[in-house]
Amino acid sequence: METVIQTRNLHKTFYTGEVPVHALKGIDLKVPEGQFVVILGPSGSGKSTLLNILGGMDIPTEGEFIYRGTPLQQMNKHDLTMFRRNAVGFIFQFYNLMPNLTAFENVALAAELTDTPLDSGEVLAEIGLADRKEHFPAQLSGGEQQRVAIARAIAKNPDILLCDEPTGALDYQTGKQVLNYLHKINRERGKTLLVITHNAAIGKMADRVINLKDGRIDRIEENANPVTADEVSW
Ligand code: ADP
Ligand code: MG
Repeated sequence: METVIQTRNLHKTFYTGEVPVHALKGIDLKVPEGQFVVILGPSGSGKSTLLNILGGMDIPTEGEFIYRGTPLQQMNKHDLTMFRRNAVGFIFQFYNLMPNLTAFENVALAAELTDTPLDSGEVLAEIGLADRKEHFPAQLSGGEQQRVAIARAIAKNPDILLCDEPTGALDYQTGKQVLNYLHKINRERGKTLLVITHNAAIGKMADRVINLKDGRIDRIEENANPVTADEVSW
């Protein structure tokens, strides 16, 4: 399988406060196409910083991120914009939907920015929201809002899906449902999937679990027999 995501000696230091914060201290990573990777680690270990760099929303202080053989540093502004628009689907903990747009409009707006979008209505139907299309985010439950956010990411037809604590704000059953959707998209559409979580049990669903600790990879576990969310409990 082709390597989709590669990092070499990735460092990130924030100089915003009085003392520099070394959020990432040399991350070396290779993720092949279609892999489901779970990123675990305590709060402040650098998980979001890593995902934001992989999503083209932040840049490393040192080292490189290579997407399908091309270092992002070599991309010009236009290429970078195209990378963010076409290659990456990002899912956040708190959904980040536009409150004044309907579920359908939230999905369609993101899809419109990309080169090879899927049909927004079909994606919403597939995720079980056919009858919620005309609702505004405030009229939807947390789980429904997160499904809209997933539909928004999927409708872009991205190469990689990056999820930062996608179930962090959801109750147990709803969280499981959302994980099942992500798992299904990974398996059926072959999308490379990276999920940040606090929940070690979710690691059982992944092909690989990366444990971050204080800005470094502490441990990597390969999982020969990943299971579905229904087979995991926490
Ligand atoms: P995690 O997602 O694992 O909780 P983060 O990647 O958010 O960790 O943060 C790693 C470290 O970097 C933390 O010490 C955090 O305070 C710091 N950090 C993250 N983003 C910024 C930023 N924009 N400016 C300054 N410090 C930051
Ligand atoms: Mg975080």
